[in-house]
Amino acid sequence: MDYNPEPYDDDNIFAKILREEIPAFRVYEDADTVCFMDIMPRVDGHMLVIPKTPCRNVLDASPEQLAACMKTVQKISRALMGAPYGADGITLQQFNEGDGGQEVFHLHFHILPRRAGDSLRP
Ligand code: 5GP
Repeated sequence: MDYNPEPYDDDNIFAKILREEIPAFRVYEDADTVCFMDIMPRVDGHMLVIPKTPCRNVLDASPEQLAACMKTVQKISRALMGAPYGADGITLQQFNEGDGGQEVFHLHFHILPRRAGDSLRP
């Protein structure tokens, strides 16, 4: 079945963060991606990784956008597992389309650093 996404909406909140029209706590940036803190963290240290170029979600993404995002996701996750943060594990989440749980329609990956015995906040 074909996937026919709605056109990319340049007014979504992450596009505004990329244009620095609204603030975000950026923890990492490279030529292709930005990583910043989630405004409603489901665990302490909850971060989001996004591509700098327009993209609705994984279904809409180019191989290059996916590769760039996953490279950053791995880099940040490895750093969180090391000192000084010392996470016990990392949960990754990613949602596509409203019925798939997506609320912001710019591709993003959730990085959730975990502590032994913790649970995700709703
Ligand atoms: P999803 O689309 O994957 O369901 O969730 C979007 C995520 O973006 C949520 O975890 C939400 O807390 C986060 N979020 C929504 N608006 C903002 C914002 O203005 N700033 C930041 N930093 N995160 C946001």
